[in-house]
Parts: sequence; structure tokens; C-alpha cells
Amino acid sequence: MSFVVIGGGLAGLSAALTLQEAGESVELFEASDDVGGRVRSDYIDGYILDRGFQLINSGYPEIKRLEVVSEIDFCKSDRTIDVVTPFGVSSIGDPRLHPLQSIHSPLGSLKEKLAVLTFMGAKSNGAISLRDALLASGTGNFYQNVLNPFLRGVFLSDLENIDSAYGREIIKSFIVGDSGLPRAGAGALSEAIGARIENIQLNAPIDSLAQFEGKKIIVATDQFTASNLLQTHEQVNSANSYTWYHSAPRGVITSKRLRVTSAKSPLVNSIALSNIVPEYAPDGVTLISSTSLELITDEQAVTEIAKFWSLHARDLTLIKRYEVKNSLPIFAPGQSGIASAHVRGNIFRAGDYLTAGSQNGALLSGRLAAMESLLN
Ligand SMILES: Cc1cc2nc3c(=O)[nH]c(=O)nc-3n(C[C@H](O)[C@H](O)[C@H](O)COP(=O)(O)OP(=O)(O)OC[C@H]3O[C@@H](n4cnc5c(N)ncnc54)[C@H](O)[C@@H]3O)c2cc1C
Repeated sequence: MSFVVIGGGLAGLSAALTLQEAGESVELFEASDDVGGRVRSDYIDGYILDRGFQLINSGYPEIKRLEVVSEIDFCKSDRTIDVVTPFGVSSIGDPRLHPLQSIHSPLGSLKEKLAVLTFMGAKSNGAISLRDALLASGTGNFYQNVLNPFLRGVFLSDLENIDSAYGREIIKSFIVGDSGLPRAGAGALSEAIGARIENIQLNAPIDSLAQFEGKKIIVATDQFTASNLLQTHEQVNSANSYTWYHSAPRGVITSKRLRVTSAKSPLVNSIALSNIVPEYAPDGVTLISSTSLELITDEQAVTEIAKFWSLHARDLTLIKRYEVKNSLPIFAPGQSGIASAHVRGNIFRAGDYLTAGSQNGALLSGRLAAMESLLN
């Protein structure tokens, strides 16, 4: 029996590749003009603009499994983040690499920082939110000043909405391995995986499964399209996000670090991407990516970004704003765990909403769906 995969995001690519490697005949249908879904890059006026700011984690088990990092000219980002506080900018890094920085940073006491380890080692204790679990571990000021501002940008949601066990797994997954970006943009990851797949139809939106009678089908679209195609109803919540790309004269920002703020701000983070990967901007300018969880005006965004970096608003020129609807699934307290890929008969599904809202979660869900479809 031959196979059909609908959707060419990381989940669909992983499903199709797994089937192809198992010797099966498989055809992948992607609605848009290229593969990648949420991991795509646009090339505009000499800039590389990812469709929403994200870093690739070269240590994710599924990315290691694919042995793809050597193909994408991967540039590591800095593991230290900078926090804008009322007392100036403080740095916080991996305590294994910068033990003294961790002790002296004014962002929380040593005891509060070590409480993160207590949280990481704790057993799951029922339906409790990530915020409550981190605070119950004793993270106190460190939670307010660093963990909350930083992790809101990871989960693209307030932490009271996130299941603590799920949150712990996501945090563990990005502590291991280096984060960074391919020299040609985040989308190069999807392109490299897609290049291994023999039969991909682009610009091929599927609106009914009836035409695939007699084949095994994996629906690897976003969860809302999937529930229409599959006539299923259960869904997890999802987060929207908004990323602004601005240019600034080169040299105005020299930092390579992700910057967050301990103050209340609509922005969750900002980073000068071309300081990590120079190819992200043309000569003479720096490309800044800034992300918000709420849709603010372009003027408000400029004001906030200028505050983040202590810049003049006039130094910032808007390149493009991306509104990414349904950026990530939100697993609410009590709602984590891997859902079955099998829907009914010859029909299966894949996507990050079934596993975890990450590149690893999407790749894993595709592989699991393919394996389940081979066994059924
Ligand atoms: C702003 C942002 C930041 C992120 N940051 C990170 C990060 O730093 N680290 C991390 O690990 N993860 C991050 N993620 C999450 C990660 O990108 C996603 O979890 C993953 O890409 C989801 O892949 P997917 O295949 O499940 O879904 P998608 O990428 O949504 O793929 C679904 C595909 O199905 C196609 N499709 C839809 N309808 C049809 C149809 N009818 N017929 C055919 N095709 C169809 C779509 O065009 C799309 O290509 C981020 C995501 C966003 C948006």
C-alpha cells in the first residue's frame, strides 16, 4: 500500500522521510510554495527574515538523528542572555560555563538560582502550572527577574498557562546542545530535510481525504486544518506571536546576546541577528529581531525596542513585521503527554500539537506517525 503525507512542515517532512527510508512509496503534498511550515525564511532586499524569530537547537535528539547540522552551515548563538533591569543590563549564562557570573549577578540570590536545579530534578506533581512549580521550588526574585521574562519568549505564553511537567521537558531539551542559526536562515533546516525526499508536490493544498482511497494517509498540517480534514474536535490552545525586523546602522548594537527585560513590556525578547550570522543583513547595517505576544503598533514596537537597546528610535528602520498565528501549542496544566497518531483505519496524524511545541516535537511526531502507520 502506498502512503500520502499532507503538510510539509517539520512533522510532515520527518514522516515522509521515515517512510521513504523504510522503502515505502510516499508522496508529500504541501499547500504553500515551499516546505518548512513555521520554519521558513524569506529573502528580502538583502535581509534574511525567518517567519518569526526562532533558534535551531543542534542538540535536539531528532536533529542529531537526522545528521543534518553539518549540511546547514550552523552558526552558534551565545548561551548568555542579557536582562534589562532598573539597575542596568545584567548577564546570566550557563552556570557550568560562567560560575562566577551566576554568583555575582544581582538578578536573584544564589539560593534562588540553585532552586532551578531543584525544579529540574523534581518529579511531576499533578496539574500544576510552570509558574507555580518554579515559584514553589524557591526561585523567588530570580523567577521575576530572569526566568519569567526569558521563558515567556520560549513558550510564547504566560507561564501560568503552561503545564509544569511539559515545561520541564522543554527546558531540559534546550539546555542540552547549542542553539544557533544556519547561515542561510532557519528555513535551511527544512530545505535540507526536504531535499532528501523524492516526491514532494508544492502548491498542492488538500481539502478532502476522499481522493486518497486505498492509501495510508498521514495528516501533518496545523491542528486546525487537521481537525477539519479528519473531522475530529479535540484541540489544544495555541499562542500567537509577532516578530518585528528592523535595521540599525552597523555598530549601534554590538551584542550577540538575546535580550529580555525584567520590566513590564509587550516585547518578550530582542536580538541583533546579524551579529550572530552576518549574512542576515546587508553590509553596513544590523538586523534586529524583536518579538511580542500581543499585536502592538509599529510605533509602540519601535519605542520598546529603543528602550531595550538604549537607542534612538530614529536609528530603527522597519523591514517587515510577521504575525504568526498559532505559533505554538499551549499545553495547559494537566494537559501534557504524547497523543496517539492513529485516527482511524488507514488515517494518521502528526504535528507539534501532539507532542511538544518545538522543532524536536514536530520531527518526533512525524517519525512516530510514520512508524505507527507502518505497523498498523
Ligand atoms: C515564532 C515561532 C518561534 C518558535 N521558536 C522555536 C524555537 O526557538 N525552538 C523550537 O524548537 N521551536 C520553535 N518553534 C516551534 C516550531 O517551529 C514548531 O513546533 C514546528 O515548526 C511545527 O512543525 P509542524 O510540522 O508541526 O507544523 P507546521 O510547521 O505548521 O507545518 C504544517 C504544514 O502543513 C501545511 N498545510 C496546512 N494546510 C494544508 C493543506 N490543506 N494541504 C497541504 N498542506 C497543508 C502548511 O503549509 C505547513 O507547511 C517556534 C515557532 C514559531 C512560530
